[in-house]
Amino acid sequence: MNAMNFTEPEERVALRAAVAELGKKYGHEYYAKQARAGLKTDELWAEAGRLGYLGVNLPEEYGGGGAGIADLAAVLEELAAAGCPLLLMVVSPAICGTVISRFGTEEQKKRWLPGIADGSGRMVFAITEPDAGSNSHKITTTAKRDGDGWVLSGRKVFISGVDEADAVLVVGRMEDAKTGKLKPALFTVPTDAPGFEYKQIEMDIISPEKQFGLFLDDVHLPADALVGEEDAAIAQLFAGLNPERIMGASFSLGIARYALGKAVSYANERKVWGAPIGTHQGLAHPLAEIKIELELAKLMTQKAASLYDSGDDFGSGESANMPKYAAAEVAIRAVDQAVQTHGGNGLASEYGLGTLVTAVRLGRIAPVSREMVLNFVGQHSLGLPRSY
Ligand SMILES: Cc1cc2nc3c(=O)[nH]c(=O)nc-3n(C[C@H](O)[C@H](O)[C@H](O)COP(=O)(O)OP(=O)(O)OC[C@H]3O[C@@H](n4cnc5c(N)ncnc54)[C@H](O)[C@@H]3O)c2cc1C
Repeated sequence: MNAMNFTEPEERVALRAAVAELGKKYGHEYYAKQARAGLKTDELWAEAGRLGYLGVNLPEEYGGGGAGIADLAAVLEELAAAGCPLLLMVVSPAICGTVISRFGTEEQKKRWLPGIADGSGRMVFAITEPDAGSNSHKITTTAKRDGDGWVLSGRKVFISGVDEADAVLVVGRMEDAKTGKLKPALFTVPTDAPGFEYKQIEMDIISPEKQFGLFLDDVHLPADALVGEEDAAIAQLFAGLNPERIMGASFSLGIARYALGKAVSYANERKVWGAPIGTHQGLAHPLAEIKIELELAKLMTQKAASLYDSGDDFGSGESANMPKYAAAEVAIRAVDQAVQTHGGNGLASEYGLGTLVTAVRLGRIAPVSREMVLNFVGQHSLGLPRSY
């Protein structure tokens, strides 16, 4: 009988160490300074791309590292743990890179993957719509046939990174030729396509990545803008959404580690009553609890990534939702407790914690909200009646 393995392969341990070094070179000060100035973290993105970290999960023949989502998740976690949570890693290499490398044509792979892998190109992902919200069955962005190609119209909201992307992988719907029903379909839409417009949404998140509303007004697309088979879009969507959840979990885990690390060093140094404040159990116990919750969430994330990399797309649904939930919750708690541990300094810009308060809240809302994860677990894991 095989023993379960709770250690990561040597290559991933080495990858984590190398990425952590890169993250340290930039650090949260750089990240926050760029974000506050309305700038991007282009230097870090480019260096991570050059070093092969951004495309570690993509096939080698298209410039990737030939490894899995577990490795990409390790990259994001380590960068976030160094104070540089690169949100676009969740969409460009994880969702778009995965979907195109698994379901794209040879042409599409050659066109998009090398740039996504080396960081010179970026593709973002658009599913959320203003009226449909969490109910993605209700999306109305619709593709109609136009000769050999397509005409796409609709609206999307809260789409990250459109201003820095070459293209958007848009989830739309098209008519099933046999039944006449609308079914999901994925399209690559260049951000400079006529009829494609985007407008920034002002957000209270200190982050280099911005969010946008998209307006697709009869956007004409060539036949090869459709990614994957017309009849398998749901499977293709899941193939991209589970990596998104695993990466969402890693984003949160990294920030939780960063915050916990800051809290622990401050609790060891700061003295108010003679001894370090970490002596007081009122501060030490919450930090110890966070450490436990963090390790649990990390273990679940690794399990989900491992299942996904073993080819179990549907089985990894449950296992990807749970760590997304657990990691978001522990990250919120970790940043809150780190702020508390620092007293007034917790909200002073110099200490680099206030910047993360809204960033971790994002993990409870996106890519799928806490309540929708609980709905999923209630219905699918526990067999409770569907509530909506
Ligand atoms: C910073 C940021 C970046 C984002 N980036 C992207 C992106 O790049 N691409 C993209 O496509 N989307 C993106 N999103 C959108 C994100 O995925 C959605 O905001 C999220 O899925 C929730 O949808 P909603 O905002 O419409 O909330 P709603 O669906 O309106 O939900 C509002 C509240 O109601 C709850 N609720 C809804 N239905 C139920 C139910 N049946 N049972 C219980 N509670 C329910 C929700 O959990 C939530 O608390 C981003 C969002 C943010 C904030």
